[in-house]
Amino acid sequence: MGLDACVRCRCVQDGQAKPHPFPEKLTLDKIGEAALKGNPSDQEWITHDRWFDESCEHRGYLVSERLGNIAEITHLRRFIRALQADPGPRFPVLLAKVVYDGTHSGDWIPSNKAAELLAEVNTIVHSGDILSASEKEFFASMKRLCEASIKTGNPIVF
Ligand SMILES: [Zn+2]
Repeated sequence: MGLDACVRCRCVQDGQAKPHPFPEKLTLDKIGEAALKGNPSDQEWITHDRWFDESCEHRGYLVSERLGNIAEITHLRRFIRALQADPGPRFPVLLAKVVYDGTHSGDWIPSNKAAELLAEVNTIVHSGDILSASEKEFFASMKRLCEASIKTGNPIVF
C-alpha cells in the first residue's frame, strides 16, 4: 500500500501506437486511458490488455513513479504544511491533491493544474539544503510527473 502516480504517453491518442486488434471498439476514457466500448467480452479485455502492454515503446506510460508508503506520505504532508507561512509560500495543490492521503489511488490532477503544482514543487526544491534524501526523491518524482503532464496534456493519475 502507498501512493503511486503516472502520466500516460500520447501514442494511442496520436495514432502512433501499434494497430489495435479491434479498433472499432477502442476508446479513450476521461483520463486518457485506452479502454473498450460496446459491451466487450472478457476475452476482448484480455486481448486489449495484451495489446496495451506492447502498444508503444513506453508501454502506455511516459512517467510512472512510486511516491511513498503511507508513513512516508504522512511525513511529507506534515513537512509541507510546516513550510507554509502567512505571508509566505503556500502549497495548495500539493496538500489538497497529492499528499492529503497515503492511498488515494484512482483520482487525478488535470494537466491544466500541472504548471501550478510544478511551481509549488520548485519552491520547495529551491530550499534543497533542508531536504532529506527521501524528500528530495519525492520532489524529483513530482517534477517528472508535472513535466510529463504539461508536455502531453494528459493528467497525473494516482
Ligand atoms: Zn507511447
